[in-house]
Amino acid sequence: MSETVLKIRLYGDPALRKKARAVRHVTEDVRGVLSGMSRLMYAQAGIGLAAPQVGIGLALIVADIGSGLYKLVNPKITGKEGGQAMEEGCLSIPGICVRVKRAGKILVQAEDEFARPVSIEAEGLLACVLQHEIDHLRGKLIVDYASFLDKLKISGSLEKLRERVKDGRVPESESKSCQLQL
Ligand code: ZN
Repeated sequence: MSETVLKIRLYGDPALRKKARAVRHVTEDVRGVLSGMSRLMYAQAGIGLAAPQVGIGLALIVADIGSGLYKLVNPKITGKEGGQAMEEGCLSIPGICVRVKRAGKILVQAEDEFARPVSIEAEGLLACVLQHEIDHLRGKLIVDYASFLDKLKISGSLEKLRERVKDGRVPESESKSCQLQL
């Protein structure tokens, strides 16, 4: 399976709230999914994407903040330090931007697409992206971080988005209101 055509699942889709399963064997199929996810991330001008965002319940993420593509299997945060806050968007929640406080520096252990162990020390934007994607693997979304005030501000847009997704009316791309799309 070399060509995997994937589609972004949008807010309200239960796939986004499910916990991803660990990948036991990194097969050709898994590599196909990672390639498809990378292609989709670039096509959507995103800098990160997690498998649950395309309806696949496996612990797979891709990320590229402009310094190279990461394809990670079973990523886990094994160390955290400091703090930072960025305005984050999400490819699954078009039109919404939430300020999220996260660790400033993290250590991630994972496997690459050939099941080789990788260890990544990330800070700044890359740390933010990896934490956002690993959140997706636990069914956690940026809206869960919204402050009370943020929740009031975005509740109308979220409701509209949910209705349009339910009706199968895919939102037009007013989506880029937030600079970081993950
Ligand atoms: Zn996201």
